[in-house]
Amino acid sequence: MARLLLVAPPGGGKGTQGQRLGADYGVPYISSGELLRDHVAGATPIGRRVRPYLDEGRLVPDALVAELVHERLTTPRPLGGFVLDGFPRNLEQARLADTWEGGGIRLSTVVHLRVADEEVIRRVRERAKTGGRSDDTLSTLRRRLEVYRKATEPLIGLYRDRGVLVEVDGGGGIDEVAARVRQALL
Ligand code: AMP
Repeated sequence: MARLLLVAPPGGGKGTQGQRLGADYGVPYISSGELLRDHVAGATPIGRRVRPYLDEGRLVPDALVAELVHERLTTPRPLGGFVLDGFPRNLEQARLADTWEGGGIRLSTVVHLRVADEEVIRRVRERAKTGGRSDDTLSTLRRRLEVYRKATEPLIGLYRDRGVLVEVDGGGGIDEVAARVRQALL
């Protein structure tokens, strides 16, 4: 059963590749960023609380985002697996997800998409032009990249040690990267 996690820098293609993978495997694509943005768009109490974090490119408190993702993964439980984008985002979230009932989140494969900073900046600039997201400004992107290096990259070592990591060159066009991801998952 595919219980996949995509790890990549902001603008690294997690969303694009994750949605494709979800469609191809017939399993839900679940993005913690999207769950949070839905709350912001709906101006819910959670949305009002998390908005400043998203606007500034900082991580939302671990327990809050873990609870949101946990709820999404249990009501109903996606029996055929899932493609996760953006959670866990740091070691503490990984630890929390390991304590969930039924043996924890039990990721079968973690795909690390490697993308150079210059390419990330170029892509996010493009996305910003087409009306994209409120956090796609250059200053926020800098913060998000910094957070990625410090907080998220340590996950790569954790999942490598667990033997579930696959490394994929995330540079280049969408179809090219999709083909590499598929090859890596064989
Ligand atoms: P993303 O859509 O993954 O780029 O996430 C957009 C923003 O949502 C991030 O910059 C964070 O502010 C917030 N976010 C998404 N996922 C998480 C997470 N797992 N933990 C904390 N904050 C998150």
